[in-house]
Amino acid sequence: MSANILLIEDNEQNRYLATFLLEHHGYRVLAAIDGLSGLQLAESTVPDLILLDIQLPLMDGYEVARGLREMPATREVPIVAVTSHAMSGDREKAFAAGCNGYIEKPINPDTFVAEIQRFLPTPSVIGDVS
Ligand code: MN
Repeated sequence: MSANILLIEDNEQNRYLATFLLEHHGYRVLAAIDGLSGLQLAESTVPDLILLDIQLPLMDGYEVARGLREMPATREVPIVAVTSHAMSGDREKAFAAGCNGYIEKPINPDTFVAEIQRFLPTPSVIGDVS
């Protein structure tokens, strides 16, 4: 099974790296470069997971997360905040806005995919390996 991941990120290099890593692991990646188009894409495609940059122009990631939680279509979709903010209270703010997880930039290519996989729905197990 291949999950659909929506990446809302305004920085081209971060978008490129995250997309590269996720596609390399077989995920389908949709990308939006600002909050409004991210909300629209999330509502129309209902991805399995949303990776959300917090520092976005016009509408920041906290606002986007709150918007995602208000729309019936995306209310249950896991959201992982991806941010370079290092200020204390950021993590709490992200969770309060509706995020399920939090990853700090810079993206570490060795651990990024494993970190986000924890928030994807568990694939159904075929056969019993025990
Ligand atoms: Mn940004």
